[in-house]
Amino acid sequence: MLVTGGAGFLGSHLCDRLIAEGCSVVCVDNFFTGAKRNVAHLLNHPGFELLRHDVTFPLYVEVNQIFNLACPASPIHYQHDPVQTTKTSVHGAINMLGLAKRTRAKIFQASTSEVYGDPEVHPQAESYWGRVNPIGIRSCYDEGKRCAETLFFDYHRQHRLRIKVARIFNTYGPRMHPHDGRVVSNFIVQALTNQPITIFGDGSQSRSFCYVSDLIEGFMRLMASPDEVTGPVNLGNPVEFTIAELAELVIKLTNSKSKLIRNPLPQDDPKQRKPDTTLAESKLGWRATVPLEKGLEQTIAYFDELLRTTGELAGARAR
Ligand code: NAD
Ligand code: UDP
Ligand code: UDP
Repeated sequence: MLVTGGAGFLGSHLCDRLIAEGCSVVCVDNFFTGAKRNVAHLLNHPGFELLRHDVTFPLYVEVNQIFNLACPASPIHYQHDPVQTTKTSVHGAINMLGLAKRTRAKIFQASTSEVYGDPEVHPQAESYWGRVNPIGIRSCYDEGKRCAETLFFDYHRQHRLRIKVARIFNTYGPRMHPHDGRVVSNFIVQALTNQPITIFGDGSQSRSFCYVSDLIEGFMRLMASPDEVTGPVNLGNPVEFTIAELAELVIKLTNSKSKLIRNPLPQDDPKQRKPDTTLAESKLGWRATVPLEKGLEQTIAYFDELLRTTGELAGARAR
């Protein structure tokens, strides 16, 4: 099994799961947003191999299955070098599809709810084509991921590749990057360090948050599904929260003294997002099961430990 982006948040949980199931795993990462720390516990496992490599360059390895997760996922990181973000999605997809074509490997793509853009349809089903700005600051990510989906379906039609395309909705959990600016990690780090909680806009925009263990189960079921199940299939938790509600919940669970502050809403920030998971339920028998409060408790415990043991958040706590 090849996992690209395997040292990232989702990739490292996927590597754990594959190793637990007895697979041999090649984990490829350029460590842009991922970290060796996320897979350090696997390094001595005989079934695990870590390779520093950038997927925008060709890769020649022999594998049976490919999980293509390489791509920065948080707005701060994917907007840091937007040209590289599009290259990672598009050239990365071409290289991994070329690898799948040569080895006849089954290939999974970590696509995203961002392909729906700022949607006029709610909740979003796979049949909705989306409303995406092609020239805005989120476009490198959104259009890169859309083009990657196009490539997957063209390789499927033209070269008969076995493809599995998952559209992932906001997912959170341990090993999120503490400074990547995503809302769950931001709020938890701010709450644990008693800094102000930064609500962008009026906090009425909504998201649906999926806990990482639920998502990885969805990945495994999709990869194991019959060949005719190509996706795209939404994977996410359909229970919707406003950002203001999330802030209140994080404050409650951390007993934080943090105040809420308002910052400007970023450009093209989607107002609402919630997956229609009917397809995942019918084709994969899958649905998210971990309630937000339970998942947040696990995630808070992870960041609390990180804060204590590595000093990773020491700067933040001191402020
Ligand atoms: P992450 O940033 O933690 O992981 C991405 C990994 O890819 C990192 O380890 C990074 O170093 C690596 N990477 C980036 N560019 C690379 C390149 N050119 N070559 C090799 N490795 C590279 O983010 P994540 O949340 O784990 O996301 C994983 C995948 O899932 C991404 O493709 C992302 O778009 C997708 N996704 C995630 C979410 C979510 O809520 N977490 C939602 C939708 C889609
Ligand atoms: N590729 C790769 N590993 C492989 C096979 C191909 O990285 O094992 C890359 C190769 O560099 C090529 C891309 O995948 O640029 C697309 O391959 P494909 O066979 O589709 O196209 P072609 O080689 O004909 O351009
Ligand atoms: N957000 C916020 N405060 C933060 C970080 C994010 O209010 O400190 C908001 C952001 O504007 C968006 C939502 O939370 O409306 C989710 O943001 P995130 O970057 O986690 O993911 P997105 O779903 O936008 O890709």
